[in-house]
Amino acid sequence: MTQLLEEANPSGPVQVNDIEITIDRDVCIGASACIPPADKTFTLDDEGKAIVQATASEEDEANIIDAARACPVQAIKVKRGEEQIV
Ligand code: SF4
Repeated sequence: MTQLLEEANPSGPVQVNDIEITIDRDVCIGASACIPPADKTFTLDDEGKAIVQATASEEDEANIIDAARACPVQAIKVKRGEEQIV
């Protein structure tokens, strides 16, 4: 069973150290491209949608940003404060 960062909010928005991650579940197609760059952060739920794992806080921020950029449908948004990074 996957340990989620926020049980009530599996796809965000969730705060991971200095950044906020949001996955648009309506846009996510379960392509899994986000998982190899940041496998402590992203996995898929039973519906094939990306979710944020509890271990995300151990992931390098650069990996999370790479993962968001790897998404073929731009489903992952990353913010640092008010700054939209991805
Ligand atoms: S790469 Fe994008 S579409 Fe694929 S699982 Fe991750 S968020 Fe969803």
